[in-house]
Amino acid sequence: MGTVVLSVDAELAWGFHDKVSPPIDRVEAGREGWRALLRAFDEHDLPATWAVVGHLFLSGCNGSHPDIPAPSGWFLAEREGELADRELFCAPELVGDIGRADAEHDLGIHTFSHVQFGALETTASLARTEIEVAVDVARQAGFDPVSFVFPRNDVGHRDELADSPIRCYRGVRPEGEGGGLAGRGGKLRAAALGPGAPPLVEPTVDEYGLVDIPASLYLYGFQGVGRRVASLLREDPVVGAVRSGLEAAAERDGVLHLWLHPNNLVTERDHQRIRRVCELVARYRDEEGVDVETMRTVASRTLASRADTASNDPKPTDPQSP
Ligand SMILES: [Zn+2]
Ligand SMILES: [Zn+2]
Repeated sequence: MGTVVLSVDAELAWGFHDKVSPPIDRVEAGREGWRALLRAFDEHDLPATWAVVGHLFLSGCNGSHPDIPAPSGWFLAEREGELADRELFCAPELVGDIGRADAEHDLGIHTFSHVQFGALETTASLARTEIEVAVDVARQAGFDPVSFVFPRNDVGHRDELADSPIRCYRGVRPEGEGGGLAGRGGKLRAAALGPGAPPLVEPTVDEYGLVDIPASLYLYGFQGVGRRVASLLREDPVVGAVRSGLEAAAERDGVLHLWLHPNNLVTERDHQRIRRVCELVARYRDEEGVDVETMRTVASRTLASRADTASNDPKPTDPQSP
């Protein structure tokens, strides 16, 4: 029997603070999207992993961060430009809502200021500080983060993660599997039919001892022309793709790992999609016995089963013994 994992990249303006033209409609939708997600998860008692940008734990900020060895100007958007003065850089009340929700969410981190770990200019010292400070502010707020999502899914500095309290991360979706969007044929098909059945993924322990829980499907990655074509169809094709994934999870082992941002919920159609996805996940849990777990739970189960396997391995025989 398979498992569903829902992960949420919770960042408000931080996902766009380094962009010249941030999409204001999306960033402005972030607060309401956050609350709507919490409501939808509570309605169906679905625990999710919330990977929160650490800066959102702060209750106020003047944009000065001498302790973070980031490139100069990295925090400029807090004070100047389109995103400043919109209350999108600090959100302790929204973070607190995750802890106060009825569903047993897993509070993870998404760095402190959305630094892209795979980027060449991101030094080990910057990555380490981003992890340390984010873990620190989360702990001060009473959380104990072990789950991590890389900004822009750009994997890097895993040795620094392994040196921290973090135990697992969302890895990249396996390529070319499960009717993915790879290749020209895939793109054409996606434009006509939607994203196709997402792969069930297998959590693995990487060479640093961290549990890699790859993504199966970004719930709002299917936009643009394809989505406009698909909007003429009766059912949202992403909902159809999720249903295919759930059918697979009802039949065999593996993880259906769905993810999104609160600021993906801009239009009523976007809201409808996540409500429908939550309904379906809950139905497959209740009627088919599919598990719904957080990244934290999947990671501890994966590490425990590995420890079991290791202790059951026959000891290498000692050629000297009689
Ligand atoms: Zn700041
Ligand atoms: Zn992000």
